[in-house]
Amino acid sequence: MDGNELIKNYPRMVTPTSKKFDPVMLAKITEKIVCRYREGVYERKYDDFYATGVYRGIATGYAVGCCLRCIFCWSYPSRDFPETFGKFYSPTQVHEKLKDIAKKANVRKCRLSSCEPTLCKDHLLALLELVEDDPWFKLFILETNGILFGMDKDYVRSLTKFSKVYVRISLKAGTPEQFSKKTGAVPEAFELPFNAIRYLMEYEIPFHVAAMSLDPRIMSHEERMALISKLADIDVKILLNLEEEIVDPYDTAIARLKAAGVELRWPLKRIYMPIREIIARKIGTSED
Ligand code: SF4
Repeated sequence: MDGNELIKNYPRMVTPTSKKFDPVMLAKITEKIVCRYREGVYERKYDDFYATGVYRGIATGYAVGCCLRCIFCWSYPSRDFPETFGKFYSPTQVHEKLKDIAKKANVRKCRLSSCEPTLCKDHLLALLELVEDDPWFKLFILETNGILFGMDKDYVRSLTKFSKVYVRISLKAGTPEQFSKKTGAVPEAFELPFNAIRYLMEYEIPFHVAAMSLDPRIMSHEERMALISKLADIDVKILLNLEEEIVDPYDTAIARLKAAGVELRWPLKRIYMPIREIIARKIGTSED
């Protein structure tokens, strides 16, 4: 496929008539746009760099490109138009930017956000090495949708050499059908993030699971139970640290929901009780 063809067929926001895509294939196509190899250096496109208050303060590189099209995603428009936005940076330039920001904000953590950080594998691994060797940084939080880790066990194994990497793996749905509806991907890809969780456990990489499962507007009770039971089948301990999320009304998220034909009412009036709170209460009750 030539460049024009690639851009013409590139999946943007999900609509009710969008063709489902294979997210592994979309990762490969997106990498052709947002990753490049120049004079021995693996570069990636970024939109911006700054510190934010999440994780009690973290230096963040806003990279370009993802292999899913979540309908509640708040990421910059570069997710849908990676050919239009962003500038290429080397791992060294990204490390320098993150360090500069982290020092000014007096924070010792960093991450990549607004994208799928596991795209451009060589770029990410080179950046992780720089962070590993830098005494300023104590932690790199690797936020991922788990698609590429779930199809490449060796990629997960390659994290074992880093002592500062902590993975946050984010699940989008509780069933293959809902995964497909909410991400635009083929339902068969639903299993990949669960494979990733199994590999993270096998290689003892520190991680926790996040899920868009606290918001009844986007996840039914039945779907939530299916998700919880699937995680419990892998390891019930995952539920004790499950970070459950709600849809936030960022402009980008609202536009993507609208494009998908999904109407949410604001403000959110009710949320589910977090599963870890339910478990804590049960443990408290049984100990009484
Ligand atoms: S929410 Fe995350 S995984 Fe989903 S499209 Fe946005 S950046 Fe990608």
